[in-house]
This record gives sequence, structure tokens and C-alpha cells, in this order.
Amino acid sequence: MVFIIKIRSALLFCAIWAVVLCSPLPGNTASMPHHHIEISFDLAEHKIYGTVDVTLPSTVREIVVGSDLRITTFKINGKATSVKVQDGRISIPKHKDRTRVLIEYEGIFINKTGGNLENMISGEGTFLLSDWYPTAEADLAYFSLRAHIPKPLHAVSESDHITTMDVGNKKQVTFDFPHPVNHIHLIMAPYVVSKDRYGNVELETYLLPEDKELAARYLAYSKKYLEMYEKMLGPYPFQRFAVVENILPTGYGMPTFTLLGRQVLKLPFIPETSLGHEILHSWFGNSVYVDYTKGNWSEGLTSYLADHYYDALKEQGWQHRRKIIENYESYVHKDNEISIREFVSGGDRALDAVGYGKTAMFFHMLKNRAGEKAFDEGLKRLAQEQRFRITSWLDLETIFSKTAGEDLSSFFAFWLNNKGAMAVNLSKIRLNQSGSGYNLQFEIRVANSTMPVFIPVVIHTENKQEKHILPVSAAEQTLSLPLKERPQKMVVDPDYDLFRRLEPPERGAVLSRLLGDPTRTILLPETNQEIYETLIQELLSQGFKTASAEEIDHATLGEKSFLLLGPQTELSSFFPGVPENPTGFFLQIRKNILNPKRVLGLILAENTDEVNGVGRKLFHYGQYSRLQFSGGKNVEKETAASDRGIQLELPRPATGIALEAVLSLSEIASRVADKTIVYVGEKHDRYGDHLVQLEMIQSLHRRHPKLAIGMEMFQRRYQKSLDGYISGETDTQTFLKESHYFSTWRFNYHLYEDILQYARANKIPIVALNQDNELVRKVANEGLGNLSPEEKGRIPDELILDDESYRKRLRSVFEMHQTNLADDSIPQEFEYFHQAQILWDETMAESIATFLADRPDYHMVVLAGSGHLAYGAGIPKRVYRRIGKDYAIILPDPGEPLEPGLADFIVFPSEVEAPEDAKLGIILDSSDGLLTVAGFSRGSGAEQAGMEKGDIVLAVDGQKVEDFDDLRVFLATRHVGDLVRVTVRRDKATVELNVELGAPSRRGG
Ligand SMILES: [Zn+2]
Repeated sequence: MVFIIKIRSALLFCAIWAVVLCSPLPGNTASMPHHHIEISFDLAEHKIYGTVDVTLPSTVREIVVGSDLRITTFKINGKATSVKVQDGRISIPKHKDRTRVLIEYEGIFINKTGGNLENMISGEGTFLLSDWYPTAEADLAYFSLRAHIPKPLHAVSESDHITTMDVGNKKQVTFDFPHPVNHIHLIMAPYVVSKDRYGNVELETYLLPEDKELAARYLAYSKKYLEMYEKMLGPYPFQRFAVVENILPTGYGMPTFTLLGRQVLKLPFIPETSLGHEILHSWFGNSVYVDYTKGNWSEGLTSYLADHYYDALKEQGWQHRRKIIENYESYVHKDNEISIREFVSGGDRALDAVGYGKTAMFFHMLKNRAGEKAFDEGLKRLAQEQRFRITSWLDLETIFSKTAGEDLSSFFAFWLNNKGAMAVNLSKIRLNQSGSGYNLQFEIRVANSTMPVFIPVVIHTENKQEKHILPVSAAEQTLSLPLKERPQKMVVDPDYDLFRRLEPPERGAVLSRLLGDPTRTILLPETNQEIYETLIQELLSQGFKTASAEEIDHATLGEKSFLLLGPQTELSSFFPGVPENPTGFFLQIRKNILNPKRVLGLILAENTDEVNGVGRKLFHYGQYSRLQFSGGKNVEKETAASDRGIQLELPRPATGIALEAVLSLSEIASRVADKTIVYVGEKHDRYGDHLVQLEMIQSLHRRHPKLAIGMEMFQRRYQKSLDGYISGETDTQTFLKESHYFSTWRFNYHLYEDILQYARANKIPIVALNQDNELVRKVANEGLGNLSPEEKGRIPDELILDDESYRKRLRSVFEMHQTNLADDSIPQEFEYFHQAQILWDETMAESIATFLADRPDYHMVVLAGSGHLAYGAGIPKRVYRRIGKDYAIILPDPGEPLEPGLADFIVFPSEVEAPEDAKLGIILDSSDGLLTVAGFSRGSGAEQAGMEKGDIVLAVDGQKVEDFDDLRVFLATRHVGDLVRVTVRRDKATVELNVELGAPSRRGG
């Protein structure tokens, strides 16, 4: 709800006038004009007739006349004078104090659609909000009003007392308002009036007949809020308070009443929230007046003590403050940013984010800076000492400096004059033992804030959380914090006590991010565009651009924040978990996985009625990520989780386990036997890990004859080669060749040989899990955005990239392999690396899920690198998301501190040397497409058998070899000490040699 006082341009002259006029004392009434206004109406003609009898101090020399008014009589001290209205003003000659001016006037106010909605005269309702009577030029003046109105109507204006008298067929209503005010209003309609009392305050509602049953609720809430704010601020400044229904859609707070638009008035949450805000304006804005020439402090203060306060009472203050910052980041950009001091009134979301949001945060920081007691005392003094005075930011600064006992001028100056939000950054975190406790040291950088600044930090230890307030006095400072217990985590500003920039993990994918993004673009529906037509028009008026799906490919999708309307077949993979046949009106916002600074939105609506039913209401749900409406009513709303505060993991201590709990592998096998999926990790080249895998497979196979093995080592496009091998149709050589084992996986085949042979002997199906390696490599180099439509067809529909802790772990893996990375940038290379990892994980998860969904009676052992399994983040949780089957994770010794959640079991395989590939002992050159012998390794069997440099290898044991792979496949099935027949071409001749295969020399060759 917005509170508006019309500011006349003449107010700007105020600064050079006498101070006494700008800040009149309440008792200094002689310096203010007194108006007695008497009016009557011709409703059918939309006409007002009025007389203004005004007593002027000698300092006031102008009468302001609205452009819709016509002066019929003008008398100075009883003498008729001809006058000229120039630029909406009548000048009066130099005159004595208490000069009386009598003005008779008339005016016509028709509510033209699209015209000024502030004034309207009609039988349906009369609303006179500004420039409806001639008035003396002054910031503050006294008014008394008498209105002659038709009997069935009721009228409301600023007043402590209303007297009504029947005169003929009309009613004469007199409004008595004994306080100085800038101007007054008059509202009149066929209201039903309901009354109640709060102490000496008369409470009333003026509601149209069809809404009269809302009266009780509004009266009850009015009492509640008057009580709340009298406790907070001291006595309510008036004798009356009324809630008045406006047939126009606008809402205002005026001295002694509030005007609520008839649509708004019916909303269930209005009495709980907006009404309190408007009642609070009785203190701030409607009795402590705002000096608009120096900025509007009242909306921010009212938001803080109303909207924010109500959430704080429900322990949701931090969410409210984060929403303020989130709104600010969403809607305020370089080109529309103003400082707090520049804010005069709201109007769009960017202005509101400053004047209501940032300013409320200013008062929150002021409260923390001054202390609660000094802040509360300052509020009371502000409400009482400045009552009926025009009050500027400087008055607030003076009052709060006094109650805080501290000069707050630089604090005020900084936050009122500067744009933007502060930024807090911690680095170089070190943890040392000191004495019986610890010393946590770090460098803290604070940008865009006044010093000193007090930064709240919560330290998490194993058993508790303790809050510290860090006084920071320089933009860059090293601090150390003595602690009794070992800290595990440090969280900076978890309650959003500071108006600061959010870190990426704190930012949720919410609707406001889309609505405020300067690049916001609608992707028009592929079909049924007519359903969304009114929404499209509304979005266009809010600055959205449009594009059609054909114009957008994966690369351009990352450049902007897009809102997809209707199902978009090409892009459906970006919205996993969306209902297939949505009913009503469904909205979802997700991070744009191609660009962390952008978001993607999707709206699916059943029909035109559902879209129109939601209408502009949608824009009030900025803080949500997922919304469902039915028949225009919100039935579901959800905000995606994000980090609370800036979270910093601290160096971890070593961990240990009690050896009394050590289990044998067979005991572990029996404990995981009831799980559908058992993941067994590996370090690929550690043979001991593979022996554990084999033993686990054997144990589980005894219990579950219907067992399958899922293997990361094979790509799913080569599944047939595995099937042929397991069924016995093909031999090992054919299998290795057809599965492209050596060109895709590369590790020594003997590492996996026992497992594969066991599977073949027992007809245990092996499921190839992995994605095509060139596709993963392409994503790692160029990102998901650059996949062709054909390639996109080969990747899973669902790619979930928003597991922040997995992302963090991948980030540290990535950084181990990188140098020269700027701390504060998220390099594009990492984004691609991350996407490739997720593509890999999701593909494997999809392969497992598909197999088990088709064969629900099967169990599976999954063999994969430990990195894909740790914490369940890579593969296991992604399988669970798809098919919801129970699982257990067994990892071999990770060689680092053990954390809860890492796995269900950690095993410690003995170190066993792997069986080695048998070698010919030759160095080959294949640069011309032939396998030419370029040299020999030490003790080479081939050299001993008489092979010579320059020989070209043609076949082994009579099998043709054409490339390295053929040779590796052949050698993989032979053993050290075997004699093989090698056919070579030497010059023009073919030579056969019997070579004894040797072990590879450890130093290569
Ligand atoms: Zn307000």
C-alpha cells in the first residue's frame, strides 16, 4: 500500500524561506493559514460548489488554484477584487497578519478512464484527493470543512470529530481537525458505517453494502494495531480512525483514516499486513510529516516497523531481510539505481526496493548500531517531539544520535548518500591450536560500507553454535578469534543483519530474479499461443522481450533469462520434474544451468481462464520458485533452498574410528544384502579395490541369483559386445575389440579380468553405464550449450546441476588441476567441467535406472570410481531420484578424513600387485599407418627372437594386426612366458619369429 502526499513544486522554495515556516511549531498557529471550507454538490453534473474563507498570516502571499477549478468570487477583507490565476496561483498584495480572503469557486470532476484518477464526483462515489479547493500556499495549515451532501451518502475527511445535522432533504456534515496539515481529502459514497472504540479512539469502517461483513475483521485488527503501536511509540495522535473503501483501485493512508481499494480490501491478508502499515503511518507520515524536499524516510521506517516487524514476530525476520536484498539485487541495476536520500515516493519495483526495502534495512542496521534500547527510545521521541512537524532525515539523525549517545552523522551520511550494497569477503582462513583452545585467523574485506562495521559471525562447533560480532574498522583487516572448541564451520551474517550483496549459493532461483533481469525474454509458445495472450501483453508492458524457440539454441539460451510459455519440446531437459499434464496454472523457476547469473522460467497453463484468473497477482509471488494456481487461486508455493549466510567450511580435523567396530568383508556383504543396489567404489588402477569388488559380487550373487553388474568402464553404445561376451557367443578378443575397451578406458584389462570372467561363467549380465567419451569431452571443452540436436538426443532428459556441496567438491578437484584462477570469478572452464561431470553421472544413473525399471526382480552391483559415489552425490542419489530403490555405498580407503555421509562402509583392501600385460618388448611407430618396429625395451623377447628395427608387424599367431588396439587386444589374452608367432615384413620378405612374451619393464619400454 502506498502513502502519497502530493508535493507541490513550490515546496522547493521552502529551503530559502524562513526556518519558522519550514518547521512550524505546533503552538505557533499564527504563522499558519486557517481555512474554513464549505461545499455542496451536483452529482449528476459531477460538479462541486465551494466557499473557502481563509485567514492568512502576512507571510503568505499566494493562493493555489487547481486547474479544474473556476473562481467565481474573490474578496480580500470583505472587498471584492478581480483576480488573475497565473500558473495555478493567485498573488495577493502585501498585507497585514490575519487578512481574510473569501473565495467562491466551482469545479467539475469526471472520472475519465486513463485520466487523473485522484478526483471524481459521481452518484456512485466521490473521491476528492488533491487540488479540489483553492488553498493558501503553505506547507502546513489548518482546515475545517462543512459538506452539504445527499442524505443516503456518508462522507469522510480528516477529523477528530464529525457532527452531522439534517437540513431539509440534505445532510450537513462538519469535520473538525485541530492539527496543522498540508491538505485534506473528501470521500463520499453510499457506505454502510460500522463503529467500535479503542480507549478514547473512535473506530469506524465505511464499506460499500456488498462488503459490509468485512467490518468486524477490520475493526478487530485496527484495535490490535493501535495497541501495538501505542506501546511502541506512545499515544495515537488522533481521536478517530476509519477504514474507508475506495471504489477506485488505489490505496492511501491519511490522517485519521485509510483508503483501501475495493479489490485489495477483500484479500484475506490485507487486515493482517497492509492495514497495520497504514495505521503506523498515523505516526510516521500523517502526524510526523515528511520533508519531501530532503527525501522520504517514512516508507522505509514504516516498512521496518510494520511489514518486517510482523515477520520478525513470527521468527521470520531473516527471511524478510533476505527477501529485501534479493528484491534489490533483482530489480535495481546501474541504470535505475538511486540512493536512499533520493527516494521520494514509490512507483516501480526498483524505486520500492530502495525506498521501502533498502531503507528498512538501514533502520535495521541503525537499531543494531545504536542498540535496541536507544533505538526504541529514539522512535518514541521521533513520534512525540516531531508530531505535526515537517521532519527530515537530519531530524532523525539528531534524535537517534542523542538516544544512542554517539554521533551517527557519518553512519547516516554513508548509507543515505551511497548507492548499492556492501560486500563482505573472507579469505586466508587459518586454524591454529593455542593453549587448550583454538585460534581462528582470517582476512576480512568489506567494500561499500561505513566504518566501523559490526559483522555477525556464527561459529559452528561439534556441539553448539556461538555468535560473535566482529568490529571491523578498516576495509581490509586481519582478525583472529580465540575459541574454546574446534570450529567446523563459520557462517557470516546468517540473519541478514547487513545490507550486503548475496553470494551465489545464497541466491535462490526465484521469480523476482526473472522479473528483474534486464535480459528477460519470453520464449513464445510452440502451440496454443492464444492461451497466454493477456499474460504476454502484461509481460511486454513490464519490459520483457520476445523470442521464438526456433531463434534460440543451447548457446544463446545461456545469454539471457528466459521465460518459456507452454511446453517447449527442445528445452524440456532443463525442467526435470515438471508435471506431464499440468492442470490450472503452473510456474517453475530454475537456475539457468548454462549461466549461473541467469534463470529460466516455465509457465504451463491449461486454458485462457487459468491464465486470466492469475493475472497480475503473479507479480506478488516474486520470492517463490514453484507455484501452482487453480481457478486463479494459489494452491501451492515453494522456494528452492539456498545457503543461509555466507558459509565457510573450516580446515577439517583428522578423524578416526574405533577398531572394535571393524567388520569382515563377508559381514559387510550380509549387511548390504537387502539393498537393491550396492555401489562399490574403486581407484581404477588399484587391483586390491577390484578384488574387493569381485568378492562383493560373489557374496551377493550367492544370495541373489538375479544379479547384474553395472560398470562405468563400458560405454552404453557398446552394450551388445558385453551381451555377446556374457552369453558365450564371442570370445574375449572379439569382446575387447568390439567394446573398444582400449581406446575408451585404457586401463590394464587384467584389473577387471577376474570380474568379467566370473560374470561370464555365471551368466551375470553386465550393464554398460557410461556416456560416449567424445560427447563428455565436447561438453568439458565447450559446454552443454554447444551440443547438436543429434547429440542432445543422446543425453539424459534430466540433468540436475544444483547440488552445491557436490559442486564445491568438484570445484576443488578442478582447481587442483588448474593454476592462475582468480578467487572471485567462476571461470567458464569450471562451468563446462561441472556440466561434463554431471552429464557423466546422470548418464550412468539413467543406465542403472533403466535396467532396473525393466527388471524389477534384479539386484545390481555398480562398479565406478569413488568420486562418482562419495556422499551419494554423483550416481546414487540420481538413481534414487529416478526409481527410488534402496542402496548402499562401499568405498575403498579414500586416504582422507572420514566424514559422516561419505559412504555406508569404508573398506581397506590390501595392496596387491596387478597381473601385468604381457609384452613383446618392442617400441612401435605407427605414423605412416603401419606398425613399424622403432626400437626394443630392455630384455626384449622380440629382440632375442631376432626382430630388427624397421620390421613391420603384420600378424600375431596368424591373426592380422592393423593397429595398436589389435595388438593390445591380442596381448591382453596372453600371459608372460607364452610363446607367440609374430609375422613381420622385412624389405620385401615375410619373416616369422617365435617371441617369448615378457613382463613390462617398470621404467617404460
Ligand atoms: Zn507506506
